[in-house]
Amino acid sequence: MHYCKCALYLSSAVTLLDSKAQQTELEWISSPPSGWEEISGLDENYTPIRTYQVCQVMEPNQNNWLRTNWIEKGDAQRIFVELKFTLRDCNSLPGVVGSCKETFNLYYQEADVEVGRNIRESQYVKIDTIAADESFTQGDLGERKMKLNTEVRIIGPLSRRGFYLAFQDVGACIALVSVKVYYKKCWSIIENLATFPDTVTGSEFSSLVEVEGTCVSDAEEEADNSPKMHCSAEGEWLVPIGKCICKAGFHQKGDACEPCGRGFYKSSSQDLQCSRCPAHSYNDREGSWRCDCEDGYYRALSDPPSVACTRPPSAPQNLLYNINHTTVSLEWTPPADTGGRNDVTYRIICRRCTWEPEECFPCGSNVGYAPQQSGLTDTYVIITDLLAHANYTFEVEAVNGVSDLSRTQRLFAAISIATSQAAPSQVSEVIKERVQQHSVQLSWQEPEQPNGVITEYEIKYYEKDQKDRIYSTVKSKSTSATVNNLKPSTAYIFQIRAFTAAGYGTFGPRVEVTTKEESTGSGEQNIKFPGTKTYIDPETYEDPNRAVHQFAKELDASCIKIERVIGAGEFGEVCSGRLKLPGKRDVSVAIKTLKVGYTEKQRRDFLCEASIMGQFDHPNVVHLEGVVTRGKPVMIVIEYMENGSLDAFLRKHDGQFTVIQLVGMLRGIAAGMRYLSDMGYVHRDLAARNILVNSNLVCKVSDFGLSRVIDDDPEAVYTTTGGKIPVRWTAMEAIQYRKFTSASDVWSYGIVMWEVMSYGERPYWDMSNQDVIKAIEEGYRLPAPMDCPPGLHQLMLDCWQKDRADRPKFDQIVGILDKMIRNPNTLKTQLGTLLYARNIILRNNGTVPEWLEAIKMERYIDNFTAAGYSSLESVARMTIEDVMSLGISLVGHQKKIMSSIQTMRAQMLRLHGTGVQV
Ligand code: AMP
Repeated sequence: MHYCKCALYLSSAVTLLDSKAQQTELEWISSPPSGWEEISGLDENYTPIRTYQVCQVMEPNQNNWLRTNWIEKGDAQRIFVELKFTLRDCNSLPGVVGSCKETFNLYYQEADVEVGRNIRESQYVKIDTIAADESFTQGDLGERKMKLNTEVRIIGPLSRRGFYLAFQDVGACIALVSVKVYYKKCWSIIENLATFPDTVTGSEFSSLVEVEGTCVSDAEEEADNSPKMHCSAEGEWLVPIGKCICKAGFHQKGDACEPCGRGFYKSSSQDLQCSRCPAHSYNDREGSWRCDCEDGYYRALSDPPSVACTRPPSAPQNLLYNINHTTVSLEWTPPADTGGRNDVTYRIICRRCTWEPEECFPCGSNVGYAPQQSGLTDTYVIITDLLAHANYTFEVEAVNGVSDLSRTQRLFAAISIATSQAAPSQVSEVIKERVQQHSVQLSWQEPEQPNGVITEYEIKYYEKDQKDRIYSTVKSKSTSATVNNLKPSTAYIFQIRAFTAAGYGTFGPRVEVTTKEESTGSGEQNIKFPGTKTYIDPETYEDPNRAVHQFAKELDASCIKIERVIGAGEFGEVCSGRLKLPGKRDVSVAIKTLKVGYTEKQRRDFLCEASIMGQFDHPNVVHLEGVVTRGKPVMIVIEYMENGSLDAFLRKHDGQFTVIQLVGMLRGIAAGMRYLSDMGYVHRDLAARNILVNSNLVCKVSDFGLSRVIDDDPEAVYTTTGGKIPVRWTAMEAIQYRKFTSASDVWSYGIVMWEVMSYGERPYWDMSNQDVIKAIEEGYRLPAPMDCPPGLHQLMLDCWQKDRADRPKFDQIVGILDKMIRNPNTLKTQLGTLLYARNIILRNNGTVPEWLEAIKMERYIDNFTAAGYSSLESVARMTIEDVMSLGISLVGHQKKIMSSIQTMRAQMLRLHGTGVQV
């Protein structure tokens, strides 16, 4: 049977009566007294014993009873009676007749107390007739060589406190050598860390007594598995079920539970062993169920004691942002130290700050976060519904499961951003250009704060008498408009507002205009726009001084306050300062000075710029305030452009603008160039370094002069055709045969587009001027800069058409850019690929094969490997020649790889340069 294997426990008997152990007379009751007889003898070991004998074999009808004393049964249920006796073989007795017997009977009687000395046979229950296994034939009764029989009988169940045994002899010759009465017990043991008490066996032979164990100290019952064992009828422990296990902080040693040592712990009774304290934890007492964290380390509530103590993560890295109107997107890389955990998430803290004094307040619930504000698992977030034209601070904090437990200083990456793209401010200065019977021509100034690129103006007008119950609107893309179909001699009210990607600004003040009286005769039909002014070359003036005063206002030097030097021009220092004209508010200005000791020619050339600039009046052309020619130093006073030249500005803010913002800048430059080309002015040196940027990011064309002014340009080099030319910006025909036209300005404009979209990268990188000319002649054109929408690159390529008649006009360029700004979807790049390539670069361990795969140039992995380009850093330093020397002969692939290397360079610069604020 299965459980027999478990019967490891030796039975043990509890003796109730042992006749051999008694030294004095037994004094059992014998009836009749002539029957059983108590006799002293020696056992096989010569120990004195008491025996009862009877041997009435000669007479028939024997009935001799022998009864023991009252035996108290205690807790016994099943009693074992072991008899040792000898019995004489009847055949061996001479002269014995039929009356001789070879058996005797065993009886018992239950009784709660002793019942007196009379034996009433009827009250006895027969246990068995006992026969000898072996009888003997020779010698006397009690002789040592007699064969001793042992018989065991079991009685039970018993219900009274005690009992008597009785032996009935019916004519045998018996010597009862010993009578032993006992019961069986399972003795107390410890099994599976549970103590089982002494247990008396059951009453039936087949019964098992179920016993519950008690856990030893520092142990507890295993859940749903309390310890049990079974005491068999034989006094054996059988079938152990369930167990106890050492409590937390204790482990099993033998049959006991001992405390875990110092530096060890056991978190649960389920664990078998004590374990060493995990990293960054300790304990200095015995019997611990867990270890305490070292200073600065913590355990989250959900952390099991077996894991190392951890700490909050360090700050996120490489926080980058992008701003689009009132939406800011942030992107960052994970912290260098996760604190030892893998549950790092990010939360954004947004604060809006006032300018002066600088105070910051929580952004409140109006601001939206996508996907959410906290618990971010990805390293980006988009924050929407910010206020326009406000200053914000964003903190990106990396958080893990123990951040809230830590009282150490919070670590975060922070960035301050101004949402500049508010709707434009009011159009306030409106001029009545021409008033007719049926039409009014108005012009106005761009609002002081355009806050973006103004793509359109709306002119609302109504008859004054009608109030504004019935009004009409007219739209205009420029700062002038003619409103037709008006009634003669009628007072009209006009109001103008500007439109940018951020929406409409508010209407400016009401302007009242009364149309002319109706004249008889021919009615005025089409009112033509007056033709744009034409540029007059100051060289055509015999007296250059006259030219200056024709186009530039002479300023009184006392109105000018020079504050500091901001740059160096060809003719002298460029300073910033203030201009206060009588009756006007003072304005910031840049002041170009003519250095002392100038020659007359230098003076003429210096003032030539003012003569040219003074002819222009356009929001995207730098505005001349005036000149000082009657005092010393001679000065040219120009509107102040806070952000300086565009190329340096973009390099400083690499990667910080949205595509829309960049396109806005390009639109401004194109509008300025449209104006200049409409006036018949050819710039010849259009380049990002000659564009100035004001505090509203408005770009204005600057650096005017005649061809010789280009001498001033460090980019200009002498070409075979004579004269200095900024080769990288100049169209083929202008390099080859000095054919400078607005179409060659368009070529330069395409290069400016490329400079802007690549944040001030040098066109054609480090290729030599000769190689640039050669490459251009062979049809090579600059590839799209990183993140450059395809439509913009196409426009660049159009500007670089070999045949200048095929290039777009500035007017068309402005139109195309306006369309893009109105439909920002057209500016979307294949962001997925770009972001992927960029992430590979951003990740410190991005590999060359990964990068090549990302740009779908994996076919060249072997070429790069063979040439020893094993890291992205080494790739970032490659030139076009290096790429060609790898055996990559397809021009398209060279371009693609070179473009991505450019991207990579910009990224690396961005990672280590000013673009990253952490
Ligand atoms: P230019 O001689 O025009 O090339 O001017 C030399 C430098 O002076 C430029 O690169 C600018 O950094 C600075 N500058 C010129 N004009 C202005 C201006 N109107 N506002 C601010 N900075 C200017």
